[in-house]
Amino acid sequence: MSGSAPDRVHPGVDDRSNDSATSRGEAIAAAEAILRPALGQRLQPGRSIAPLTSFRIGGPAALFVEPEREEDLAAIARAVALTGVPWTILGKGSNVLVSDAGFPGLVVRLGRAHQWMEREGTRMRAGGAMPLPRVAGGAAAAGLTGLEFGVAIPGSLGGAVRMNAGAHARSMSDVVETVRVFSITDGTGSVVPAEEAGFAYRTSAFVRGTLVLEATMALREADPGTIRELMDEARAWRRATQPLAEPSCGSVFKNPRGDHAARLVEAAGCKGLTHGGAQVSTKHANFIVTRPGATAADVRAVIRDVRARVLDLFGVELETEVEFVGDPDTHRV
Ligand code: FAD
Repeated sequence: MSGSAPDRVHPGVDDRSNDSATSRGEAIAAAEAILRPALGQRLQPGRSIAPLTSFRIGGPAALFVEPEREEDLAAIARAVALTGVPWTILGKGSNVLVSDAGFPGLVVRLGRAHQWMEREGTRMRAGGAMPLPRVAGGAAAAGLTGLEFGVAIPGSLGGAVRMNAGAHARSMSDVVETVRVFSITDGTGSVVPAEEAGFAYRTSAFVRGTLVLEATMALREADPGTIRELMDEARAWRRATQPLAEPSCGSVFKNPRGDHAARLVEAAGCKGLTHGGAQVSTKHANFIVTRPGATAADVRAVIRDVRARVLDLFGVELETEVEFVGDPDTHRV
């Protein structure tokens, strides 16, 4: 069997994986010393992040922080610049697989102050921590159409913008007008128009160091009954086709050009393929579902096996849509 492509490194992360554990430990301690006075209880060392993800597996964050105010963001940028601590951004954790060893650095997740939304004429503006289904619901309640596709995508608005999340042949790039961001790497804020957001299939320009703080979406007025029908259809389609009762990250692989990852995985005979507590769903071949006690290593083993079989049989290298947080071999916290 030919070798599969390497796991894609989580692109929103600066993990400096060649650094020694000692220097990483020193950087974490130095970052904690900088962040503690600024953030107080909003800085949590050793916080378990598994419960903050839809897979519900993975180890702790060496440091976890939920910025609320602009000063918090400035302190995070300062700590990163001065210490070189590895860092990553977490939204609602519905598209990530956290390593069993956790993340040996700073995990940044927008706090509650970033959960808000407001209507401005035919536009909706919302904070990056706002769940996308709630933004879709808010738009519907305001009689605005365009966001129905997001009603059952379980991410945050920030994560959805970053991933250019989509369904039913629509995606965030169809509605986003502007994005307000903060750069963790240079400590500055800016407003990015959609034309400069680099939106493409399940990706955007917001991959390295850019925290999505808020987005403005341009929508259209429509009959509220029609909007509700579209949302009900979207929910019913998911219930019928996806294993929603079991932990997963949604689609594991991106669709290759002109094909569907689920079709290839099923045609390769991988439905039901199991490693430890992780299994290719028997309901939807592009979902990996887990049992209690499953590890990130189990999920990675399933991913590797599926990729290798699809490559072997069809010559197609599946690329993961799920992003990996922390490295299983080099990171120990
Ligand atoms: P996370 O999983 O926390 O992070 C994903 C990426 O976004 C990471 O790189 C992270 O660093 C980055 N990120 C998160 N928040 C921010 C922020 N504020 N600023 C900058 N970067 C950020 N996706 C689809 O596109 N379509 C679907 O139909 C769909 N269905 C799903 C169904 C299920 C049952 C599940 C579990 C997942 C599904 N997903 C789907 C995947 C997932 O919901 C989306 O990718 C979502 O946009 C991820 O958002 P999040 O907040 O959970 O991001």
